[in-house]
Amino acid sequence: MTRIIGVVAAAALAAACTQTPPERQVIDEAVAAMGGAERIQGVRTLVMEGAGLNGAMGGSATPDAPPNTFKVTDYKRTLDLQNGRMRLQQVRTAQFAFANATVVRQDQRLDGDIAFNVAAPAAGATPAPPQRASEAASQQRRREMLDHPVALLRAALDPAARLGNLRQEDGQQHVDITTAKGDVLTLAIDPTTKLPTHVAHAEYDPNWGDVIVETSFADYEAVGGLQLPKRFTTKTDRFTIADITVARNQADVDAEDLVAPAAVRAAPAPQPPPIEVTVEQVGRGIWWLAGGTHHSVVFEFADHLTIFEVPLTDARTQAVIAKAKTLVPNKPLTHAVVSHHHLDHAGGFRAAVAEGLTIVTHRGNEAFFKEIASRPHTRGRDALTRSPKTPQFQLVDEELTLKDATNEVILYKSNGNIHSGLLLYAWVPRDRTLVQADFYDLNWLQHPWGDNFIENLKAQKLNPARHVPIHGRIQTHAEVVKTLAEKPKAPPQT
Ligand SMILES: [Zn+2]
Ligand SMILES: [Zn+2]
Repeated sequence: MTRIIGVVAAAALAAACTQTPPERQVIDEAVAAMGGAERIQGVRTLVMEGAGLNGAMGGSATPDAPPNTFKVTDYKRTLDLQNGRMRLQQVRTAQFAFANATVVRQDQRLDGDIAFNVAAPAAGATPAPPQRASEAASQQRRREMLDHPVALLRAALDPAARLGNLRQEDGQQHVDITTAKGDVLTLAIDPTTKLPTHVAHAEYDPNWGDVIVETSFADYEAVGGLQLPKRFTTKTDRFTIADITVARNQADVDAEDLVAPAAVRAAPAPQPPPIEVTVEQVGRGIWWLAGGTHHSVVFEFADHLTIFEVPLTDARTQAVIAKAKTLVPNKPLTHAVVSHHHLDHAGGFRAAVAEGLTIVTHRGNEAFFKEIASRPHTRGRDALTRSPKTPQFQLVDEELTLKDATNEVILYKSNGNIHSGLLLYAWVPRDRTLVQADFYDLNWLQHPWGDNFIENLKAQKLNPARHVPIHGRIQTHAEVVKTLAEKPKAPPQT
C-alpha cells in the first residue's frame, strides 16, 4: 500500500515538474509583453531623460503641511545593464524657503559595488576629482538599478533568481523575486496588459522603522523593440520621494564611460565621522554640548536636568544623554525639549523616549511623535525597540515657563516662521541667554527668515546678551545682528 502511494506521488511530482510554475508563467507573460526574453537579456543600456520632482520624508513646515519638494530638471538616468553601472544626473531646485544651496546639480554613479559622486565644477574652477560614496549609498544605488521593469525582469530571468508567493492584490498579480544577489523584491503586473505596474521592497528607516519603497511604472511606449515606461513614481511609505516624467527613452545608446576611476576604486568607502560630544559650561546651570553639526543644551533645576534638543541619530543622542548625566552628580536627566519635528533635530526622539525622558514639544507635534514612537521596527533595532516605552509629553502652546528656586527657562513658540511653524526656542532671563535651533545659523548662505527671527525676539521683548545655538557657535547679539546684515535674505537668482 505504502509503495503504491509512493509511486502515485512520484508520478504527480513528475507531472508537476514538466509544467511551468504559475509564478514563472506570470513573469514569462510580462517578459513577452515587454519585448521578449532575448531582447530583454540582450539590451545593453537604457537612457531616460526628463524632469519632475523629488520629495522629502517628513520635511515640512509643520507635521500636517505638505512635504517639502524639489523641482527636478536636466534629469538623465543611464542604466548600463550589461556592466552593472548606473549614472543619475539631475538639477534639484528647492521649492521651499531654504537657507543653504537651493539649486544643486547632482551626478551620482555606480560601477558594480562602487558608488561615487562627481561634483559640478564651479564657473571657472578646476573640476574636483570624483569622490567615493558610502557603502549605504552603494547599497541604495544597487537597489535603484532594479527600479526599472526591464532591469528587474532581466534579474528575474537569471537562472539563479527564485520566484515565489504569487498572489492577487488590488487587481494586480504580484510575484516575489529573489535576485541572484539575494535582494527580495515584489513585482506587480497588470493582468490585462501583462506590463509591470510597480516594484516594491521592504526597507528599514531609523526614524520611520519598517517602510515599503514602491516605484510605479506608467505610460509605456515602444522603443527599440521594448516597452518602456515614461513615468516613474517612487514612494517610501506614504511619502512621494521622486516623480519623474521621461521625455525621451532610448535603448542601446553607447553609454558614456561609467567606469569608476582608479583613484575612486582605491579609496576606502567613507565612514560616518566618530561621535564627539564637547562640554562647555556657559552659565550657572547651563551647559552647551557641542562637537557635531547639531548641538544640545542642558539646563539644571533643583532636582533634575532638562536637555534642549535630541538631534540626528540614536547614537548621537545616546552619547549626548550619557554626557548630560555626568554633569551634576546624582541629579537625573528627566526632560527633553524638541525644538521642531524635522528629523535632523528630532532623530534622537526615540532614544530620548527609551531613556524615559518626558518630551517637551509643541502640541502640534504630538501626533507626529506618537506615530514615530509606535511604528513597527522589525527590520532594525534601536534604543526604543530594546527598551520599549510609551512617550510621555509635556506639551507647549504659546509658551511654557520651566521654573523652580534655582533656575528659570521660558520656552516660546515662534510666530510666522516659514521654516517651522511650531518652532520652540528657549530664553534664560537670569543670563539673558537665547537657545534656538533653525531660527538662525551663522553658517547659512542666506537668511530667508532672518527678519522673522528678530521680529520674534522683539515681540517677546527679549534682548539677548548671548546666543547659545543648536547650530554654529556662541555669539553675542551684536554678532548675530551683524551676520544677518551681511548675508543675503534670498538665494541668488539663477
Ligand atoms: Zn529644521
Ligand atoms: Zn537645523
